[in-house]
Amino acid sequence: MGRPKLVVGNWKMNGDTAQAEALLSLLIKPIAAMSNQGQASNFQVAVCPAHPYLGLVGTRLASSTIALGAQNCAQSPSGAFTGETSAAMLADLKCTFVILGHSERRALFGDTDSVVALKIARCLEAGLKPIVCVGETLAEREAGQFAQVISTQLNAALAVLPKEVNRFVVAYEPVWAIGTGKTASPEQAQEVHALIRSQLSAAGFPAQEIAILYGGSVKSSNAASLFSQTDIDGGLIGGAALIAEEFIAICSALQ
Ligand code: PEP
Repeated sequence: MGRPKLVVGNWKMNGDTAQAEALLSLLIKPIAAMSNQGQASNFQVAVCPAHPYLGLVGTRLASSTIALGAQNCAQSPSGAFTGETSAAMLADLKCTFVILGHSERRALFGDTDSVVALKIARCLEAGLKPIVCVGETLAEREAGQFAQVISTQLNAALAVLPKEVNRFVVAYEPVWAIGTGKTASPEQAQEVHALIRSQLSAAGFPAQEIAILYGGSVKSSNAASLFSQTDIDGGLIGGAALIAEEFIAICSALQ
């Protein structure tokens, strides 16, 4: 069957009940049609709303082909952690995926490599699939340090990840391309994806079976050229995931 081809929409801290309902009503049918056609190629789509909407979105998606994901989880399993949401709660709400190590969490909320590793461990215990984000800042790219930065972030995650197929996804998201309108060129993205795959392989993971997504200003106009690269297995989509037409076109570029 090969590795999954996956598009994940990260809705971030956007929208409300009415907007979530409206977006889903436009997504469910066209994505079901693509998923049915793409069954043989292991094509999957997921959306990750903010935590308060997980229950509602999960209910709407229950009989759909779109999977549910969350944008974060707590590093502890349960207890006196006011305001936090545990991985077990996300599993209870029927999440499949959890985005971890997103650059916004790393930069704004103290999600260091070791915190990300704890969160990955909690997700795995709960049967969830972490989408582990790695990526360099503009300064790190300009200093020629991107390979080192990504390798360090990835190594910290690999230390707690199982060497098994279909337990996690990696997302390469250059920080300078997130929400900026600047996209890595397909060649720049492919170079990093190939590095990530060879690091997975060197560490004993079934690298050819693990999906590696690209994220950073993916739009309908650039999706096909990014997805045509050998080691790009799909996308983690921010802004364009909030526009039904755009998100459907991006999914269709992969499927
Ligand atoms: C993201 O936040 O994961 C992302 C890729 O955002 P955008 O597509 O808006 O750059």
